[in-house]
Amino acid sequence: MRITIIGTGYVGLVTGACLANYGHHVTCLDANGAKITDLQKGKTPFHEPGLEELVRLGLLSQELAFETILPENSLGPLTTTDTLIVAVGTPTDFLSGGTDIRPLYNAIMEAAPHLPNSCSILIKSTIPLGTTRDLSICLKNIHPDKSFKLLAQPEFLREGTAIEDFNNPARLIIGTQDDQDQIQALVHALYPPLIEKDVPLLITNYETAEIIKYASNGFLATKIAFINEMADLCEATGGSIQQVSQGMGLDPRIGKDFLEAGPGFGGSCFPKDLRALAHATHKFGVSGKIAKATLKSNIRRKESMSKLIIDTMGGDVQGKTITILGLTFKPNTDDMREAPSLIIIPALQEAGAIIQAYDPAGMIQARGSLRDIHYASDPYRAADGAHAIVVLTHWDEFRHLDYHRLFQTMTFPLMIDLRNVTVRVDAESAGFRVRSIGGALEGAQNNNEGDVLA
Ligand code: NAD
Repeated sequence: MRITIIGTGYVGLVTGACLANYGHHVTCLDANGAKITDLQKGKTPFHEPGLEELVRLGLLSQELAFETILPENSLGPLTTTDTLIVAVGTPTDFLSGGTDIRPLYNAIMEAAPHLPNSCSILIKSTIPLGTTRDLSICLKNIHPDKSFKLLAQPEFLREGTAIEDFNNPARLIIGTQDDQDQIQALVHALYPPLIEKDVPLLITNYETAEIIKYASNGFLATKIAFINEMADLCEATGGSIQQVSQGMGLDPRIGKDFLEAGPGFGGSCFPKDLRALAHATHKFGVSGKIAKATLKSNIRRKESMSKLIIDTMGGDVQGKTITILGLTFKPNTDDMREAPSLIIIPALQEAGAIIQAYDPAGMIQARGSLRDIHYASDPYRAADGAHAIVVLTHWDEFRHLDYHRLFQTMTFPLMIDLRNVTVRVDAESAGFRVRSIGGALEGAQNNNEGDVLA
């Protein structure tokens, strides 16, 4: 199948590389010329495990190509494409409180005149309710002679495990107004390995597909905000959040995922999609109280973390050096969008702290959004002369720190672990005082795999 993708970001690039690996001929287009030039040389624009290898394989086999979206570059791929996939960003429009879908409209409307008559257009971007139906009406009005199949296929891959997620999705959701048999045939042709694996396919109308995406992210984000509030309750009462998470997660109706307490959720999706959900409920006149409460709870959570750090350090951080381990919103990505570090670090700097930081992948991105940080090439250099270490992101590397080595380099041996990854017993025996969150247990690790007595 000949596929063109517009928007070569986290979703578009992973989709393109994986589909080329399935044997399709894929051209990825993007407005960012520098990104495309790098990709043409096999250099990926962000950190995603396994992606660079897959892109290089695609280039080598000539199944994968990259072009800047200029008329002279895009016409070839567009005029011969069987399926157009749209994966441009859909950020919050902070003026209206809604979502900025202009890039999505522009991309589709500019491509449409060049697409073959019966081309399928698959929207993978997360889009506000009603967008697909509006677009289908626009396309019909402007191109009455064409019979495009416009589909909404919400994407559920997660940064850090994006290739694994793409190849093993929990489900495929397709929103359509076309005949189900035709859509099934298209899905079979597009994703043969997923059909072989019997990945559940749910064909819905447009609105349902759009709501499934927002409802899924809203629900997961709410789970995180909820467990963070339970962590506060544990601290106030002497409970242990790790055992609370474990005890809840053992109930199959709840499940153990997204029950790890932390400094609040971030990233390019949860906060943005919750805002869009809250906006949609308002727009359609239904209650959006849960989405709004989750957003509020999460903002409060991020803001409260700097106070927790300052209080743990004796109430005054003026002139003190704090080592931050982890800047990205989660491990295995360099994505800094809405990361808790963007709220916590400036608040500590405002209180007079000097920040030294280390992140395995996010330091280049962080330089664009954080100021006056001394970056180090490993956790031990970052801890040099520090009065406290703060673990902000649960990179695997931070679960296996050499506490003796850290102890020797620091001015004061204090570990403030906002992810509960510290092996408390080891850190304490090396001389550290450990402040975890939610009354984390001595010697316990936040992996929800503590002993369960039969
Ligand atoms: P991104 O910012 O990484 O990439 C978007 C790309 O689109 C950028 O490279 C940008 O240059 C390009 N672009 C924007 N307008 C364009 C246009 N008119 N023509 C050509 N290129 C254009 O975004 P992302 O994280 O990949 O997200 C894309 C969509 O997928 C969003 O709607 C997002 O909510 C959704 N989504 C993201 C994830 C994720 O983990 N990042 C997961 C599921 C769904």
